Amino acid sequence: MNFDVVTLFPEMFESPFAGSIIGKAVSKGLVQITAHYLRDWAEGRHQVTDDPPYGGGDGMVMKPEPICRAIASLKEQRPGAKVLLMSPQGKPFDQQQAQQLSQQENLIFLCGRYEGFDERVRSYVDAEYTIGDFVLTGGELPAMVMIDAVARLLPGVLGNQGSAEADSFSDGLLEHPHYTRPAEFEGQRVPEVLLSGNHARIAAWRRSQQLLRTLQRRPDLLENVQLTDDDLLELERLRETHRHIQIKTNG
Ligand code: SAM
Repeated sequence: MNFDVVTLFPEMFESPFAGSIIGKAVSKGLVQITAHYLRDWAEGRHQVTDDPPYGGGDGMVMKPEPICRAIASLKEQRPGAKVLLMSPQGKPFDQQQAQQLSQQENLIFLCGRYEGFDERVRSYVDAEYTIGDFVLTGGELPAMVMIDAVARLLPGVLGNQGSAEADSFSDGLLEHPHYTRPAEFEGQRVPEVLLSGNHARIAAWRRSQQLLRTLQRRPDLLENVQLTDDDLLELERLRETHRHIQIKTNG
C-alpha cells in the first residue's frame, strides 16, 4: 500500500517510520511511505506556498495552486488514489475509518500549516479527517497517526494478525486487560483464571472483562455494538454487580 504525504516538513516523517513494526513493513515492501515537499510544486523564484487571508486577519493561508498541482501529479502516479485532507474540522478518525482506509491501494495525505488551506482546495479532496477535538500546529502528526493505524491492519504487517483483531474498537468494545509474569507483583496477583489453562474459561473471562471495561470507561460504545444474547446477559449481571463502583481512570 502506498502512503503519499504532501507537507512543508517532509523530514518529520523520517524517524517515526524508520524503526519498529512499520519500519519492518517498509523494508519488506508491504507499505511505502513517501513524504513530498509541497514547495516543489510552488512556482516563482520564492516558491511561495502561503499568503495573507482575503478580508484581513491573523495568520497565513495555504495557497490552492501548489496543493492542487501536488494532488494532480500524485494522482497521475497513483491512479485511483484517495486524497485525504488533515483538518480539525474533518470527520473524526477512528478504528472503523482505519479499517475502511486499509482496503485502499493508495492514499494521499495533505498536511496543513498556519490557518490551514484555502477553502477551494476542499473540492479536490475525497475526505477530510480530524484526529480529535484539539488544534495542532500542523497536519503532519495527524497524518502519521492515521498512517500508523491503517498500516498495522495490512496483512503481514503485525507479526500476529490475531492481535489487531482483538484490539480495542475492532469489535466495537475496549480490549480486556493483559498480564504477564510474574504471577504476583508487589501484592497484586494475576487473576487465577488466566493461570488455569482452561481456554473456554479464559475466553469467557476476557469477554466479560471487555464488557466491564467498556461499561465503566466508554459506555457510549455499547450503543453501537452488536452483542450476542450471552453478552447481553453478562452485561446485565455486570451492571448489577458493579452498580456502586465509580469509573476508575488515572485522570
Ligand atoms: N484554522 C484552522 C481551524 O481553526 O480549523 C486550524 C489550522 S491548524 C493550526 C493547521 C493545520 O494543522 C490544519 O490545516 C490541519 O492540517 C492540521 N491540524 C490541526 N489540528 C488537527 C486535528 N485535530 N486533526 C487533523 N489535522 C489537524
